[in-house]
Amino acid sequence: MAFAVASLRSVARRRWGLAATLQQVSGPGRLTAAPFSSAVLSNHYDTGSLLRSPTPDDVNAFREMLGQSPGSVLTSLEDVESYNTDWTKHYQGTSSLVLRPKSTKEVSDILRYCDDHYLGVVPQAGNTGLVGGSIPVASAPAQEVILSIERMNQITSWNPTTGIITGQAGGILQDWQDYAQQKGVMIPVDLGSKGSCLIGGTVSTNAGGQYYARYKSLHANVVGLEVVLAGGEILRLNLQETTSNNNDKESKNNTVLCNLKDNTGYDLKHLFIGAEGSLGIVTKVALWCSSAYPTSRCAVLCACTSLEQVQECLPVARRVLGETLAAFEFMDQAVTELVAANCSGSISGMIPQQQRAMTTIHFIHIIAF
Ligand SMILES: Cc1cc2nc3c(=O)[nH]c(=O)nc-3n(C[C@H](O)[C@H](O)[C@H](O)COP(=O)(O)OP(=O)(O)OC[C@H]3O[C@@H](n4cnc5c(N)ncnc54)[C@H](O)[C@@H]3O)c2cc1C
Repeated sequence: MAFAVASLRSVARRRWGLAATLQQVSGPGRLTAAPFSSAVLSNHYDTGSLLRSPTPDDVNAFREMLGQSPGSVLTSLEDVESYNTDWTKHYQGTSSLVLRPKSTKEVSDILRYCDDHYLGVVPQAGNTGLVGGSIPVASAPAQEVILSIERMNQITSWNPTTGIITGQAGGILQDWQDYAQQKGVMIPVDLGSKGSCLIGGTVSTNAGGQYYARYKSLHANVVGLEVVLAGGEILRLNLQETTSNNNDKESKNNTVLCNLKDNTGYDLKHLFIGAEGSLGIVTKVALWCSSAYPTSRCAVLCACTSLEQVQECLPVARRVLGETLAAFEFMDQAVTELVAANCSGSISGMIPQQQRAMTTIHFIHIIAF
């Protein structure tokens, strides 16, 4: 319960506008029957007072649990500072305890302890989510514990037959991309934050990225997940690794049982993709990769004078480029001006003379490979 309350807050913050509207529509006293986002808000505020802040005894218990390994329990102001601030520097938390487990078992032990002792937990990955979901709430009645997955960063298996890469959720997206490239395949998601965001955070936000037009969302490409629930229970959803002798040691030679096609029964992993930590912590990910790493690509920047023109371009691009269409991204006038004002190489030089005179220009960036 403690974990769920704290982590649900991230979804609540992101969906605040929607929740407020739904509450107005559904009226007071009907929140339990209301859609998910309304229930999230009421959960957070009704039960927040049950939680308590971590004490020195809790810190000692975590030190014992995580085997005194250096860097696994952070408590000094200096050490926890960066974990309390997100990429935008807009959200600021006040947590004084950061836990950095290295294995699924350690995540499970931490969550079981927090659940038993009424400590709220915020899962944190690369901290680039942009909406503050990975940052503890400064105004919460009790301090929340930050559980960072950044040390769970091993890629544990590669299956050349199915094209599936499996690894711990704390791997940096760029590292997964580099690993995939060495194997001649391509990770089907690419974001501006790839050097900092982690695969578990990316799955938890269901981040889209520039190749959405080709590969669709992570719901289409994540084939297996391992997650730890609030009480410490470990769920393996189409992802079973052969047990190695030491739980903490994960090697790239592990055998993974993960079906590329599994159309039996319910598919629970989809509940955790995009759940932002509200249902559990993602500890391992099995991701299908595109079979060929492109050896050539073609990018084009089109200028349109209306949003209608932008919309007309998409079916044309799909018809002309067919399966090779990889990205179709649009920047409106305001974004274009921001880019022009903040980047050294001005974009205005690329705009034809007669179009420069027009009041509104929207750009479409199309990539094919
Ligand atoms: C420059 C830049 C470009 C971006 N481009 C795109 C884009 O093109 N498309 C797009 O969709 N998004 C984009 N994003 C936002 C995107 O959501 C994040 O970059 C990234 O995917 C989040 O990953 P993270 O590791 O930083 O997660 P965090 O920010 O650390 O966490 C995000 C959320 O997931 C939760 N969480 C983290 N780890 C776990 C876990 N293991 N289990 C359960 N919950 C967890 C956190 O509590 C939080 O609620 C961009 C961000 C930046 C800064």
